[in-house]
Amino acid sequence: MKLIQSFLTNNPCYQANLKRQDTRYTDFQRRGPVGLMLHSVGCAQPSAEVFVRRWNRADYDRACVHAFIDGNTGAVWQTLPWNYRGWHGGGSCNNTHIGVELCEPDCLVYGSGASFTVRDRNRAVAVATRTRNAAVELFAMLCKQYSLDPMQAIVSHREGGKQGIASGHADPEHLWSGLGLDWTMDDFRSMVRDRLHADGADPSPGTQPLYRVQIGAFHNRAYAEAMLAKARKQFPEAYLKKE
Ligand SMILES: [Zn+2]
Repeated sequence: MKLIQSFLTNNPCYQANLKRQDTRYTDFQRRGPVGLMLHSVGCAQPSAEVFVRRWNRADYDRACVHAFIDGNTGAVWQTLPWNYRGWHGGGSCNNTHIGVELCEPDCLVYGSGASFTVRDRNRAVAVATRTRNAAVELFAMLCKQYSLDPMQAIVSHREGGKQGIASGHADPEHLWSGLGLDWTMDDFRSMVRDRLHADGADPSPGTQPLYRVQIGAFHNRAYAEAMLAKARKQFPEAYLKKE
């Protein structure tokens, strides 16, 4: 899996996290994600970089996600630190879930809503396969990192809407069914689980060793805050822990 870090530092959502605007942000930053939500972009644009450029603006206040998966290369463009609160699901899932967008093939022609026609099905299926496979790898990595059970923690935006934790959207299942593929989110979750097991991960979460990196320890809180501020410039996921 190729991971490219390109944070949307100008996006108002990133700024709200940086300022630790309220407890929804600080809770997410302290605790990390408890779920992972899969989206697809809903337009015929395979390039993750195009979204990164479009969304990395101070006036782009509609949405912010943790990653885009490029349709041409399968590369993961990470656009928020994993422990930042995103604006992706239009509901309470933003307080708990990482949001990841699959980019879509350029040969789709969208009609109204989530329906589209396909100009080159083989090409489109190749893109959908590439993004799904990269998403399996990414979600396996995140499940491992945050000790999440893929069968419980992973939902699609569509499923989140049905559960009442997200807005009523059809992605990404509309992409797969619109291409005539019989892929389901249950298949996706199983693929992530299999991938985790193939990596030799302990199937029971919470029992794996965790390696933290410490860069300072102080009795004076102000000194600790100053060190944290310095560290955050390069490592936005750095945090302070009182013992
Ligand atoms: Zn969505």
